[in-house]
Amino acid sequence: MSAHFRRWMVELGAECGHEDVTETVREVVTESGITTGLVTVGMAGSTGAVTTIEYESGVLKDLWRAVEHLAPADDEYAHNLKWGDGNGFSHVRSALLKTSLSIPVIDGELYLGTWQQIAVFNFDNRSRRREVSAVVVGE
Ligand code: ZN
Repeated sequence: MSAHFRRWMVELGAECGHEDVTETVREVVTESGITTGLVTVGMAGSTGAVTTIEYESGVLKDLWRAVEHLAPADDEYAHNLKWGDGNGFSHVRSALLKTSLSIPVIDGELYLGTWQQIAVFNFDNRSRRREVSAVVVGE
């Protein structure tokens, strides 16, 4: 059993900033030499999210519409009343989508479908520079 990791920074725009990190995660898996295990991708922060998606503009718009439906930006949030930073919706969206996920590594490859990418999101009401990590564990 061994472990290997990388951390890097991403610049994400306000409210729906997103980036496809699949190729970077694939590189980390390859350089780890691990052929059977798990890679966990995480993003530090309480207004971001990590998920898998078909990374194309239509689905990205659909996801944005869905999170807007679940936690509308113009709704009233206890967080906003308490802190005045106006991003209660961002924290709720982040909590619902989560800020890390694990992908199986089999035969040294990410266990993903052809049209399935790993994407990071910024739900905050301002652009953010965020750290992303990928930790590979296995043998
Ligand atoms: Zn806040």
